[in-house]
Amino acid sequence: MSWTSELVVDDEAIRSNAAYFAAATGGRLMAVLKADAFGHGSIAHSVLAAGATSIGVTSIEEALVVRAAGVRVPILSWLNPVDADLAAAVVADIDLAVQSVRLLHAVGRAAAALGRRARVHLHIDVGMARDGAPASDWSALCGVARELEVLGSVRVVGVMGHMSCADRPDHPQNARERLVFANALRTAQRRGLAPSVAHLAATAATVTGVGSGFGLHRIGAGLFGIDPSGTSDRLRPALSLTTTVVGSREVAAGTGIGYGLEHVADRRTNLALLPVGYGDGLPRAASERAEVQVRGRRRPVVGRFSMDMLVVDTGDDLLTAGETVTVFGPGDHGEPTVAEWAGWSGTIEHEIVTRIGSRVARIHRSTVTAAAAGTAAADGTPAACIGEAAGA
Ligand SMILES: *Cc1c(COP(=O)(O)O)cnc(C)c1O
Repeated sequence: MSWTSELVVDDEAIRSNAAYFAAATGGRLMAVLKADAFGHGSIAHSVLAAGATSIGVTSIEEALVVRAAGVRVPILSWLNPVDADLAAAVVADIDLAVQSVRLLHAVGRAAAALGRRARVHLHIDVGMARDGAPASDWSALCGVARELEVLGSVRVVGVMGHMSCADRPDHPQNARERLVFANALRTAQRRGLAPSVAHLAATAATVTGVGSGFGLHRIGAGLFGIDPSGTSDRLRPALSLTTTVVGSREVAAGTGIGYGLEHVADRRTNLALLPVGYGDGLPRAASERAEVQVRGRRRPVVGRFSMDMLVVDTGDDLLTAGETVTVFGPGDHGEPTVAEWAGWSGTIEHEIVTRIGSRVARIHRSTVTAAAAGTAAADGTPAACIGEAAGA
């Protein structure tokens, strides 16, 4: 199968970001690879090689995929309904975050039926009213967890929380949430639990420091060059989306373009047709704002986005079918970035990278920076390699 659009994943950028967080956290790095590693595909081995010591995902299904890829380190799954396949998680040695007594009992039953102990992280809501046990339920949850430990069906290995406002280091909520978390750890101890890890900070709380000092750090966005706090200049974006011109034409001034003829050419110009659209994850909200890069120049996308197509105004250039167009990239060569796409669409970078669809081939490649090339030569590993397209 041939692909007209390619999402190139720069594994070396991800390794560099992971190495930065591994150093910044003293090696206490849980790499968060939910949502297919924020749309980047199979990169677990890259982040582990760069110093991550455990993996975090949302569902058990995601955890099992990572385990099946041969990952031996702890893998934590933190959001599951009571009727999830808890037995499969226990068998695959997946750590489970638990936020309710009901789920805790279900985990205990699944483990007991297998004659095993489930590894559990108790999850407290430190203040965002989303996931995690409400603080008012915490003491009881710890009590039940201790009973199940004594009965032999669970072992509480961790306590986790997640911060609501860590991207704004001056926000007073940060101090409140740290306090709730510190109190939760004390309560767990008083209830007889002895978790070996505590983790509060994600990317923003780590970069700004507002969630540091508790132990493990759960880093997702930062591995992919996204810093919600906008304060770090150490992170490298890892995705480049390119596509191929399908056709081109010259149009007269006054020509209406696309559905609703919302865009009208104000001069004689050339148009190029690209085989990507909102069905591939490029938000329709970016219509009349987005740009792409072709022949080294930025060109505006014109008219409403279609599901499968975009039209670009290429000015004096009449493009040739088959020419490569860069939709976004790290920005090193003047191409649009994921951050710009997020701005054009009124959203955040996370949403752009996680939505690129399955019609786009994912190709893993390592950029050859001077340093990386040196390493590659030294250990004999090829500096650049092209992986197999996901979904092919
Ligand atoms: C997504 C998520 C993370 C990772 O957050 P980033 O900001 O992407 O680093 C950590 N913990 C929980 C509970 C999450 O849902």
